Amino acid sequence: MSVQVVSAAAAAKVREVELKDLSPSEAEPQLGLSTAAVSAMAPPAGGGDPEAPAPVAERPPAPGPGSGPAAALSPAAGKVPQASAMKRSDPHHQHQRHRDGGEALVSPDGTVTEAPRTVKKQIQFADQKQEFNKRPTKIGRRSLSRSISQSSTDSYSSAASYTDSSDDETSPRDKQQKNSKGSSDFCVKNIKQAEFGRREIEIAEQEMPALMALRKRAQGEKPLAGAKIVGCTHITAQTAVLMETLGALGAQCRWAACNIYSTLNEVAAALAENGFPVFAWKGESEDDFWWCIDRCVNVEGWQPNMILDDGGDLTHWIYKKYPNMFKKIKGIVEESVTGVHRLYQLSKAGKLCVPAMNVNDSVTKQKFDNLYCCRESILDGLKRTTDMMFGGKQVVVCGYGEVGKGCCAALKAMGSIVYVTEIDPICALQACMDGFRLVKLNEVIRQVDIVITCTGNKNVVTREHLDRMKNSCIVCNMGHSNTEIDVASLRTPELTWERVRSQVDHVIWPDGKRIVLLAEGRLLNLSCSTVPTFVLSITATTQALALIELYNAPEGRYKQDVYLLPKKMDEYVASLHLPTFDAHLTELTDEQAKYLGLNKNGPFKPNYYRY
Ligand code: NAD
Repeated sequence: MSVQVVSAAAAAKVREVELKDLSPSEAEPQLGLSTAAVSAMAPPAGGGDPEAPAPVAERPPAPGPGSGPAAALSPAAGKVPQASAMKRSDPHHQHQRHRDGGEALVSPDGTVTEAPRTVKKQIQFADQKQEFNKRPTKIGRRSLSRSISQSSTDSYSSAASYTDSSDDETSPRDKQQKNSKGSSDFCVKNIKQAEFGRREIEIAEQEMPALMALRKRAQGEKPLAGAKIVGCTHITAQTAVLMETLGALGAQCRWAACNIYSTLNEVAAALAENGFPVFAWKGESEDDFWWCIDRCVNVEGWQPNMILDDGGDLTHWIYKKYPNMFKKIKGIVEESVTGVHRLYQLSKAGKLCVPAMNVNDSVTKQKFDNLYCCRESILDGLKRTTDMMFGGKQVVVCGYGEVGKGCCAALKAMGSIVYVTEIDPICALQACMDGFRLVKLNEVIRQVDIVITCTGNKNVVTREHLDRMKNSCIVCNMGHSNTEIDVASLRTPELTWERVRSQVDHVIWPDGKRIVLLAEGRLLNLSCSTVPTFVLSITATTQALALIELYNAPEGRYKQDVYLLPKKMDEYVASLHLPTFDAHLTELTDEQAKYLGLNKNGPFKPNYYRY
């Protein structure tokens, strides 16, 4: 059996290592060391070639903006995506959730707070400046958030918090709370909100079939028995489903939030009520943020042996404050681009002392996050902000990669006339074959009703383009952070900005022409719509399987390096989601398997396959 390993020394290269002691493959992977993720990765009986030369990495880690070697050890520097969050669909509560280094923080009343644009501003560590005992005052706490880095603010997910008593200004750290079983090993906003949170979790469970299947399949088997997982992710209903699944599989968990704004207080309360030591609330200060992480790690009589991180802050905290803990830690599972990038940097510097799984680059996550998620959320984001009708509208989509393809497909299906711009002839040809007109932005900029950027690039829409747009043209970004549209160029005295709705600005020219700028050029879907739970289910399932695999792997299978998930595990994640659709997968016959040189149970594609 071979597994992809991405060496930090050559991050773009993937080599393959032999895995020993794998159990035989089974028709349907099940849980447990002997049967779980590990068996899901069972080697081909007759096909596949473990000795085959390693392919080029399917996707080398993409450094976030401003993230270089020096940034690797910094928890805040260059933090880019945070993928596991969602918002509820209350249009009155539109919040930021940034996966790619977003910079706006939007409160429920629609107030947009400018967050740092550079990666230099970072959360400070307690050992640098702050002491937990010297607590900031209320005002101090509020003002602290201004200095908070992208690290814990760029990814925003909080749903409408209908039980959130924002007038209750008492810090959860100042409250004495107990759950109904008498435990006070948690710190949440209000334990009394647990019932509401439970409802949210139950709703999420409906759309997270794979985790629910894992729970069922586990039955008596506890592949995570003895696992002590410390987690730092968004605390949402979806994360709760993951945590409770890990618990059902035998793990003990302690959890903090990876983002100071994204915690759903009700959900945190429900988890605490269910006995999970959760330390998180919406609107943590910088000091709170690190305090919560520390409370998860620094516990008498409990030491983590697994890390589940989203962004690298938790990992970094343990490295800085409790390096000895790594003696007992079996592995790190990291979800975000930035966190993964930091792991590669650590590895490169020879400082990664445990194996790590790069969940971010698993095939299923990439596809679902970029193509399918955007295909759904582009319409949602546009509709919520503008109430527009799509039929017959002329739209130009810049970039025909995964995100662009999703946006184009959705808009075409709604009857829009879609133009595409591309720099890459291959993607350009794809756009043509899919029936879109390939143009230069200049050619259509005067006539289009909507401009959408999806390039991952900067200054794709310049001031010159903005000057030439027609009245009422809608401009938005689905690509990278807030770099794609030159919004800064619109902040000049001759232009008037009018906030017409949360996340919607009219920018008005002296002659009366106005354009409609959405989310100030930040990611539209993450700012103004929800991320489907099903998408998050893919990620959460991948995380769970990565934890099971790392926890159960025999000594020596994984070295101190960063690993991509084995393709077979990706296939398993997908297969767990198929029953939702009553989908019936065709099985290879023996003859066919032999003909293709495949194992009947997969993996079905070589690592270089692009889907
Ligand atoms: P991709 O690389 O597949 O596609 C980007 C495309 O843009 C490429 O084909 C590239 O050739 C093209 N391009 C680059 N510069 C261009 C320019 N100046 N004009 C026209 N085309 C140009 O990447 P992707 O997976 O589609 O992701 C695009 C961006 O969206 C990334 O920044 C990614 O991080 C972000 N993203 C957003 C979401 C979301 O929810 N909004 C989800 C996933 C990824």
